[in-house]
Amino acid sequence: MHTLTFTNRQAFFDYLQNVPEFREQREYELAIVRRHQDEAVYHLDGYCKVCAKPTLFQVDAISSYQQTEDGLSLPNWRERLLCESCQLNNRQRAILHQIQAALAEQEHSESPTIYAMEQVTPLFHALQQIFPHAHCIGSEYVGPEHQSGAVVDGIRHEDAEALSFADNSIDLITSNDVLEHVNQPLQSLREIFRVLKPNGNLFLTIPFHADRDENVRRAELVNGKLTHYLPEMYHGNPMSEDGSLVFNDFGWDFVGEMQSVGFQDVGLCLYWSSFYGYLGAPLSYFYARKPAA
Ligand SMILES: [Zn+2]
Repeated sequence: MHTLTFTNRQAFFDYLQNVPEFREQREYELAIVRRHQDEAVYHLDGYCKVCAKPTLFQVDAISSYQQTEDGLSLPNWRERLLCESCQLNNRQRAILHQIQAALAEQEHSESPTIYAMEQVTPLFHALQQIFPHAHCIGSEYVGPEHQSGAVVDGIRHEDAEALSFADNSIDLITSNDVLEHVNQPLQSLREIFRVLKPNGNLFLTIPFHADRDENVRRAELVNGKLTHYLPEMYHGNPMSEDGSLVFNDFGWDFVGEMQSVGFQDVGLCLYWSSFYGYLGAPLSYFYARKPAA
């Protein structure tokens, strides 16, 4: 799987408009959708990098939100393509794939410390399975009454704006669709930067608005008082049936925010692979690295 990295909207849209590869990916995906348009659920052959074996990826209409010009409903490729063995979706498998590649490339200690901003999820379970020699730490936001680092009914609580970890203590951090739910995401980026070791890697996904430069604040918590600037939006939350409030919509300013706290090699990375079941161009995650000491 090769990735392309972008740091601004102009370069990103130049690529989408002018590079044939992207159009070919979209046409490949549309052909699949047309072929299976009468099936509620179907499966595509591929290879799961997490399971390290050939598998079938399940496609269905759950959380689909887009239609083609001729009225075909497009799958939500990012959130579907569930591997029949590990049940991880496209973006979860892809981020674990990137983590595997990063740990293989870098001169880490024999037992790297990996921190995931999630614990009660299939992704964290898979992380522990595929890196048995790593020290894998997961956490959830359990509630404002708890101190970061506290373990509540087996679940570690961490406030993303005030992590309990020591400076320079973690080799790799992954944060998947978390920061949009954080009141002060810039403070959270500062904390991630602080606790990463020099040369430590960050792999991060957020719902990203690639057509915008500005980050847009939907809600804000000031002195315990919640103000909504835009209609309330909630995403699924494994810790609460009420879901998680979205505080922020991110545009390309997010790249600048990562750079402003000190990260290097920051960018939006595009990935695509029919073999690995990474359909849905343009699919992306953010990468950043803390500079060497
Ligand atoms: Zn799998």
